[in-house]
Amino acid sequence: MEKYKNMTLKSMKSIVYIAAIILFCAYGCEVADKETMVSSSFESGSIGAVTKTGNTEWEFSLADDNDNHELPDRWRSWWYVRMDNVDTREPLVIHLKNRGWPYYYVPVYSYDQETWYRFDENEVTQPAEYELKMEKQFTQSTVWIARFYPYTYSDLTDYLDTLPDNSYVTVETPATTQQDNPMYFVTLTDPASTDEDKQRIWMHARSHPAETGPSFLLEGLIDYLVSGTPEAQQILSKFIFTLVPMHNIDGVIAGNYRSTPKSENLEVMWYFDSEDPRELTENAPVEVTALHDMILELNDEGPEFTVALNLHASNSEPDIRPFFYPHFGTEDQGYTETEASLWKKQLRFIDALGIHYGEDMLEPAPDEGGGSFASKSYPESWFWHMFQDEVMAMTVETTYGRAGYGPDWITPDDLRGLGKALAPALRDYADSSITFEEHAFRARQNTIRSGLTYPALYPPATKDEMKE
Ligand SMILES: [Zn+2]
Repeated sequence: MEKYKNMTLKSMKSIVYIAAIILFCAYGCEVADKETMVSSSFESGSIGAVTKTGNTEWEFSLADDNDNHELPDRWRSWWYVRMDNVDTREPLVIHLKNRGWPYYYVPVYSYDQETWYRFDENEVTQPAEYELKMEKQFTQSTVWIARFYPYTYSDLTDYLDTLPDNSYVTVETPATTQQDNPMYFVTLTDPASTDEDKQRIWMHARSHPAETGPSFLLEGLIDYLVSGTPEAQQILSKFIFTLVPMHNIDGVIAGNYRSTPKSENLEVMWYFDSEDPRELTENAPVEVTALHDMILELNDEGPEFTVALNLHASNSEPDIRPFFYPHFGTEDQGYTETEASLWKKQLRFIDALGIHYGEDMLEPAPDEGGGSFASKSYPESWFWHMFQDEVMAMTVETTYGRAGYGPDWITPDDLRGLGKALAPALRDYADSSITFEEHAFRARQNTIRSGLTYPALYPPATKDEMKE
């Protein structure tokens, strides 16, 4: 009996052991057998060389836009990959190289391209100035990883489909890109109020395709304007918003950072004859001509534009908050009355936005904006030559890092909050009965953000990515 019992126990142990192996292999061996795959062949996907350097260790090298090695190093920032058959039993290590910018950041990842998560700061280190090392054990075998929250052309069309079918919002596609993709123009206003009492507001985003922050910002603005609240209704009765949420669509689809599939940087291609700024020269790309023509058409139709915002995102050190490129300066600094008037309007707008977004959430304006933009071919250069100080045209730069939310890293909802704040800020900006404490934000310049844990290689020498 004793012997029989022992044998049974022994047999049972063997059976459990064998069963365990079968169960283990049904799950683990299969995963281990399949080769991990890395791909960027999907909308907005991008990566250069991919090398497997260990069992679960990889080296990713960033690509130039269109693999065009003649483009500046600093145009290498965006990357977005899909990994399949990832071993979930041990950490995956990714060495990211060939970066164009030295700033530390934490990338994002998703298991379904819908819900995105930031890596933890302790999962991302900076072994060398232009490198990042990620080490993370994923819980699912398919994962998408990106430099920042992606926002594709499909994401835009899906979002526009969610807008209410009413007379306050109109979505049109009056132009197409070089690759024949429809360009969306979104108009928001209260059609029951007479146009004569309204001002036009212009905004366009994604001239630089990978700068996705402004897409979330515009979602926040649009959601707010169509929310039906009395405040939103009042704003729609006073303004007509014309928004171009995605300018460089072909570049977005291609997974480029700054340029079209022909490596054109649309931001600096508002080519015009300063003698006659109504006309762009014939070497301006169709994407630029489409915006230019629409602005003139609507302005001629009336009411006229008073504000034009050019939305971007800047590679900056992680704690730089959203900021602006105001132009010129005061008459005391040697600027003409008209130049100083534009400068003053730009600061007034920054102050108004600070009040609605949060007084510590924006970078203070510089002491002087300078006039070099006027001799270049930015959108604001054209606006200046066309409308002088009648249109407060300015670039808004969102940022990718903690952006004022430290120790947390900025999320799409935070960016939507910035968009939501734009609406009452524009209302107050346009209301001449409201006065702001002049240059209030300058007083807070150089505010030191507390509790930072920069990697040892920090800080880099350059402050922000410049507009070009
Ligand atoms: Zn940009």
